[in-house]
Amino acid sequence: MELPDIKRLNDEAADAANRRQLEKDAEHPQDHSCTVCEWNGEEKPADYSYLTYDIFSDDPKGVIFTCENHDRSTGEPIEGYFECGDCLKVLAENYTWERYDIIVGCERLCLPCALWRYLDDKEHWINPEGVEQVVLDPHSHEEDGWNRVLDPQTGVLNLAACPHLIAVKQPLPDDLHFVENLEFDSSTGPLLAGFSSTYAEGVGENAALRKIRELAEAGYTEFIPILDGAYQFSVSIGLYVKADVHQTIEERGASSALSPSR
Ligand SMILES: [Zn+2]
Ligand SMILES: [Zn+2]
Repeated sequence: MELPDIKRLNDEAADAANRRQLEKDAEHPQDHSCTVCEWNGEEKPADYSYLTYDIFSDDPKGVIFTCENHDRSTGEPIEGYFECGDCLKVLAENYTWERYDIIVGCERLCLPCALWRYLDDKEHWINPEGVEQVVLDPHSHEEDGWNRVLDPQTGVLNLAACPHLIAVKQPLPDDLHFVENLEFDSSTGPLLAGFSSTYAEGVGENAALRKIRELAEAGYTEFIPILDGAYQFSVSIGLYVKADVHQTIEERGASSALSPSR
């Protein structure tokens, strides 16, 4: 499956006339036939309508219509869509292999809402100095609906517990800065470097630990690792820092590089 042209979709959706038309269509479901009935080759007037969105922008992308029989019978509200527990929008589940929803506790959230919620919790920010070891352990402990990434007692950071909160091409919040990422084989775990796999055990974990040490040396006191891309056979784990802290550290680095050394 290939990612559709997100930019074109957004340009179309951002068109005010397009938005007005979708909203107008959604106002009169009975003038349209049920989307699920249509899939089945039948035609039946709809009773309900939902504006649909995706995680790539705030603009509605379409409208789905359901009859009494098919409303929430194949999905939420129909197959291929879900309703986010935070923003309450109906969103497309996926365009590729990558899903755009995540279950947190007993709630189903869209990735942008889940990301916002995750970043907002101080507990999820990790001091790079506190990381002693990096592992890939598929069995992780759950805390408040999230898998625990760092065990503060042992300093063990589990990359496999990093939540999937960012999809390929998903716009990042302005206050988040991407530092670096590592790609792992999604089924067996080893680090993928470019197109040649480095299958030696522990290579990915060690590479991650090195990068985390570099963050500490650069002066970062907090970072957050996030699964920021799910492909058919691999996943990307990105290390993120706060954008304002990044800027301060960059400026400090630039000015110390300029000052004469003695
Ligand atoms: Zn129907
Ligand atoms: Zn949402």
